Amino acid sequence: MHSQYDIILVGRGLANLLFAVQYLQKNKKLKILIIEKQKIIPKRYISTWQGPGLIDLKKEFGLKKEKSWKKISVSNDKEYIVRKTAPYEYVSYEYSKNIRILLSRVLKYNVDIIYQNVKSITELQDYIEIKTTKDSFKAKFVMNSMINENKKEIDPYMLHQYFVGTEIKPNSSDRIDECQLMHFTKVRNAIQFNYILPFAKNRILIETTEFSKKIDFKKLQRVNNQLIKKSKINFKEMGVIPMSTKLKFQRTKRVIPTGIGGGFARPSSGYLLIRTAMWAKENKDKHLSEILFSQKKVINFLDKIFLRACANSSEDAQKIFMALFKAKNIHSVIRFLADSATIKDLINIIIISPKKIMINALFK
Ligand SMILES: Cc1cc2nc3c(=O)[nH]c(=O)nc-3n(C[C@H](O)[C@H](O)[C@H](O)COP(=O)(O)OP(=O)(O)OC[C@H]3O[C@@H](n4cnc5c(N)ncnc54)[C@H](O)[C@@H]3O)c2cc1C
Repeated sequence: MHSQYDIILVGRGLANLLFAVQYLQKNKKLKILIIEKQKIIPKRYISTWQGPGLIDLKKEFGLKKEKSWKKISVSNDKEYIVRKTAPYEYVSYEYSKNIRILLSRVLKYNVDIIYQNVKSITELQDYIEIKTTKDSFKAKFVMNSMINENKKEIDPYMLHQYFVGTEIKPNSSDRIDECQLMHFTKVRNAIQFNYILPFAKNRILIETTEFSKKIDFKKLQRVNNQLIKKSKINFKEMGVIPMSTKLKFQRTKRVIPTGIGGGFARPSSGYLLIRTAMWAKENKDKHLSEILFSQKKVINFLDKIFLRACANSSEDAQKIFMALFKAKNIHSVIRFLADSATIKDLINIIIISPKKIMINALFK
């Protein structure tokens, strides 16, 4: 057994490092251990909105963007909506680069990192014991970003957002320079859309996403393959994010669940970066025994109705997205998507949303 740590971070991922960067600014002397199971940091793109009234990820955390866009499109086979979003921009960050940035900030303090697989976390009266495949460690508090696969799904409307993305080097004749947020395609029993992020002439991410009760990666892979045609592949990314308003944050006296495992992902979109960054900032002055993660009630309520509409009918879900992106006040929509809606924005969202679909979903 090693000496006792103030905090053990299980996982060197986005949520734990965003938290540590903020928390260490105020609590410089804490003795922290990070236990991570894999040395290699996977490459992937994480995106979010940035602009007035939203937490500034560069200023607060030092994150470096890969690319940003002030014009986006949302479309289906009938409609094509292009919106200018300035002063807001849709920003993509490469995960491995930014994890390294966050890690280098954190390791300047009294922080160690080891690469071992955590097998158990046991909460005892006065401390926590963490066992890995090789060792055991003691801590006063644990920030745990492992996903508990055994957690029962208690939500009949629970959907999964799962996706397959391919970064390609396009053929020289294919010119793609538009940020396509969503292009919906018609499929049975799911909401499927393609998402395109052109980072540079020779680097374009083409992603196929589904919101669905069932996960079928083979099917999604086939759809994605058709889109990339015979282009040269740089790399692939894939993932699954739960979409439910019932995945509640539940801490114990000493264990604080974080990230996807902590229920931080936005139920209606699966987005996690911006709300985790806000959580890290809001909690930096608190004692570890007081750290909580709470979802804003009105946003959660609207997400719940939206998820029900998605579970009922993929066409209804498309109609909601199209209505939001057609809205006169796109800035209200962006702040809503970025978890920073004002009361006026929320009223706008309610006015913009297709009433019949929302009411049907609410009472179904
Ligand atoms: C491909 C992809 C694209 C995404 N795109 C977006 C996006 O555009 N916008 C957005 O907001 N969100 C996005 N997300 C969702 C979310 O932001 C990321 O998944 C984010 O990395 C989640 O942070 P986290 O801390 O929960 O998990 P992670 O960043 O994955 O960190 C968890 C860490 O814990 C480690 N770990 C797990 N089990 C153990 C164990 N037993 N012992 C030791 N270590 C362990 C893992 O190896 C990992 O390093 C995306 C997710 C994926 C997979």
